[in-house]
Amino acid sequence: VPEYRAPVRAITAALRSAGVEELLTLERFDGVSLADVDAVVEAFGTFAEEVLAPTDRHGDAFGARLDTSTGAVMVAPEVAAAFGKWVAGGWAGLGAATDHGGGGLPSLVALAAEEMFASANMALSLNPMLSKSAIHALEALGTEAQRERYLVPLVAGHWTGTMNITEPQAGSDVGAVATRAEEREDGSWAITGSKIFITWGEHDLAENIVHFVLARTPGAPAGTKGLSLFAVPRRMVADDGSLGDRNGVRCVGLEHKVGIHSSPTCVLEFDGAVGELVGEVNGGMAAMFLMMNAARLSVGLQGLGVSERAYQQALAYSQDRTQGRAPGSTAPGPSPIVEHPDVRRMLLDMRSSIDAMRHLLYATAAANDLARHHPDPERRACAQRRADLLTPLAKAWCTDEGVRNASTALQVHGGMGYIEETGVAQRYRDARIAPIYEGANGIQAIDLVSRKVRRDGGAALRELLAELRGDLADLARFDGLGLHEEATLALESIAAVETTAALLVEADAEDWLAGATGFLDMAAVTVAGALLARAVVRAAGQSPPAEASAAGGLFRVFALERLALVPAMTSVVTAGASRLDPALLTA
Ligand SMILES: Cc1cc2nc3c(=O)[nH]c(=O)nc-3n(C[C@H](O)[C@H](O)[C@H](O)COP(=O)(O)OP(=O)(O)OC[C@H]3O[C@@H](n4cnc5c(N)ncnc54)[C@H](O)[C@@H]3O)c2cc1C
Repeated sequence: VPEYRAPVRAITAALRSAGVEELLTLERFDGVSLADVDAVVEAFGTFAEEVLAPTDRHGDAFGARLDTSTGAVMVAPEVAAAFGKWVAGGWAGLGAATDHGGGGLPSLVALAAEEMFASANMALSLNPMLSKSAIHALEALGTEAQRERYLVPLVAGHWTGTMNITEPQAGSDVGAVATRAEEREDGSWAITGSKIFITWGEHDLAENIVHFVLARTPGAPAGTKGLSLFAVPRRMVADDGSLGDRNGVRCVGLEHKVGIHSSPTCVLEFDGAVGELVGEVNGGMAAMFLMMNAARLSVGLQGLGVSERAYQQALAYSQDRTQGRAPGSTAPGPSPIVEHPDVRRMLLDMRSSIDAMRHLLYATAAANDLARHHPDPERRACAQRRADLLTPLAKAWCTDEGVRNASTALQVHGGMGYIEETGVAQRYRDARIAPIYEGANGIQAIDLVSRKVRRDGGAALRELLAELRGDLADLARFDGLGLHEEATLALESIAAVETTAALLVEADAEDWLAGATGFLDMAAVTVAGALLARAVVRAAGQSPPAEASAAGGLFRVFALERLALVPAMTSVVTAGASRLDPALLTA
């Protein structure tokens, strides 16, 4: 089985297309050059190839093991060793502020490293992903004392963070959280309740774990308005930062899952565990959204990471496996299956989807950086609208694509794809969780239509679509690329998204809810496709002709395979709920 090769050239091109050069002009990134960024991508690529990727199978086979007598959890020693090297190599906290030991890079660049991590070992990549979300929440909401206590070890990777939302009765409905928080005499809080499905909730990789827990204070309002966020360390932390006794939180069970086997998915029991309030009482949902938005982008990225590795495996297999004779083949004997047009269709469908995802995800990260660090408040506000709009697209569409691409890669392998030895089956098993966690994709679609489109009457979406029309007009300048028909498909998709959004803004709740998932899909394909066109324009202006022609070729595939279908989706998205007759379920 070929191991992973970091797609350094594609990543550095996508970083430029997403605007990394503009980000580096911001004061926050003083002292970081484009050469530094390229060096980080290159070096992390090598680390992902040589250290992380070889542990992926060990982790899958070993899984996570709970010692029920102590509550301790262990993962494969190879996985633990790779994590240790990641920490020792100073890779943790790449995008965190330098004040607490972070790398001070744009979150866009940190995301590029995260992509390679997710390709190399998705299950392990979840661990730093959750720490990153915790760091983000503490940077924004922590008191000075909390930042002092928790940020340095979290940023360094010596401690890790978790996100504790889910309870048996509170899944998508976060407002049903029942874990209790009662104030203690010293101003800390006693946390009591059960959390389920907590990723990396217990493990043997770090000195301490800080759980970020949503809980309800006495007399708090019902629903999400009555939730508060607490930092609950696994081991108590003294004022000087030294570690004390174990806190009252324990792993009492591990889930047996379809994939991401080496990521321990824990049932955690909080029994009067000591916690600190983060942010305001009843401000938990806003705080958790800060964490979740960072995590949603990273989960979308897992769709990309898995797809890239699955593609590499499928391409290698298709060049090796021979069957039948391809049309026009002059070589003796059977042809490698890559020479069959239908196999190339599968591979290029994946390849163009991977590029499109990368542009969408990186554009979202760049918008986050601008929203946080641009000096002009108007630019910040505009970038925030953009990031808010793109986040559900990035999370839901890229995770659905991850499953689709992993499935296509398996199909390219034929029967051997269904056999574990080839390793491609692991991609499929791992990819399948991403559309579910961090807000199921159906919930992302509802978020998109309700909060990001209907609430402002479609204004932020129109602003984005107008900008993308500009990119397609730029593409028309490069006649030599012969992409006129494809540019027209992209423009027709943009028009369809605009018309559909206007209809959803006017629709009744049941009707727009019935169309939300289809709308997210058509919007994501359109935006990602137009961002591919933007990359073509960039390559045509600045890259060697072979790169420009490859970018143009992938845009052509995406336009013909995906964008062409978008206008047809308007009718189903706006058909309303009447087609979903409950009587049909049992007719
Ligand atoms: C491996 C794994 C790791 C996880 N890690 C974490 C973690 O670290 N921390 C954490 O807190 N949680 C974690 N989770 C929990 C995860 O976030 C939830 O499973 C997810 O949010 C969905 O909730 P649920 O499972 O209760 O499904 P449900 O909420 O029961 O949803 C079932 C289906 O119904 C749909 N649905 C539900 N409500 C609505 C609605 N109002 N409108 C339309 N459709 C709806 C959903 O889209 C979904 O398709 C993890 C889960 C898994 C499996």
